[in-house]
Amino acid sequence: MPAEVPPTAPSGFLSRLHDGLRKTRDGLRQKLEGLFVGVPLDEATLEILEEALLSSDLGPATTAAILEPARAAFRRQGITTVEAMRDLLAERVAELLQVGPPPRPPLSPPHVTLFLGVNGSGKTTTIAKLAKRHRDAGEAVLLAAGDTFRAAAIEQLQIWGRRIGADVIAHKPGADPAAVVFDSCKAATARKVQRLLIDTAGRLHTRQNLMEELKKMHRVIAREVPGAPHETLLVLDATTGLNVIAQAREFHQAVGVTGLVIAKLDGTAKGGAVVAIAQALQIPVRYVGVGEAPDDLQPFDPREFATALFS
Ligand code: GDP
Repeated sequence: MPAEVPPTAPSGFLSRLHDGLRKTRDGLRQKLEGLFVGVPLDEATLEILEEALLSSDLGPATTAAILEPARAAFRRQGITTVEAMRDLLAERVAELLQVGPPPRPPLSPPHVTLFLGVNGSGKTTTIAKLAKRHRDAGEAVLLAAGDTFRAAAIEQLQIWGRRIGADVIAHKPGADPAAVVFDSCKAATARKVQRLLIDTAGRLHTRQNLMEELKKMHRVIAREVPGAPHETLLVLDATTGLNVIAQAREFHQAVGVTGLVIAKLDGTAKGGAVVAIAQALQIPVRYVGVGEAPDDLQPFDPREFATALFS
């Protein structure tokens, strides 16, 4: 069943998602110019539609999965208007996005989230945005500067921590990230904070070492906080389109990703990739980033996304 619109959605929530998907929608619209109003539905229309979906980076498998029920309905003359077709497509996209289980709540705080992603994907910004959401909800938040490989990453997190009102556990550049994780788990438990958000390195050039490092961090978290990490979020750059799937698989194999964050959705016309990525990995999208400001993070709702894509 597609999810309902959350009753707690802040005002402007839908319009920001709508804005964030503007480039993707414009791309689709250009291809579908005039198609959705008063055009008779025929095989040629379906072909135009297929081409448009492919161009928004949905990929061949997902495009086929989206169009299959629409084609079937068309052939048995279950739908006759393009508007009805659009509604059917939106419903199908929402359905395809319903993958994986919902996030696990902690038995007792802290709720621990481990963040993964290659450098530049938008990981630090996402951590800051999410920390702000939790702070705004009145929760105590602790951040852990687990990317000890880059001094700038530690500093960036500390700057965000000051802005948002969240303490940051950090060691010197070059320190063992597992030690940062250990200290942050101890501190989060001792200080009884509700949320611990852990940053990790995302260097691409020493991948094997990175995956081993992440596994070790994951083990330390699991040992120090029962049931943790409650979420392992992989941050992906939407502007990279479908190319991120291989990268995501590697992270997933190493530590088991439980949710995706699609950052920079506002910067791409390839927003359809969100559907293809969730499909290929069978991992749910938890949040989308629709801008650089601290409030530009939206909890992901498949139905809203699908509606905003075709509206
Ligand atoms: P990290 O290396 O993965 O930690 O990446 P950063 O968090 O430093 O982000 C890299 C760049 O992407 C920065 O300039 C961010 O401001 C920008 N960025 C992150 N998320 C978004 C987003 O949702 N939309 C836009 N437009 N830019 C973003």
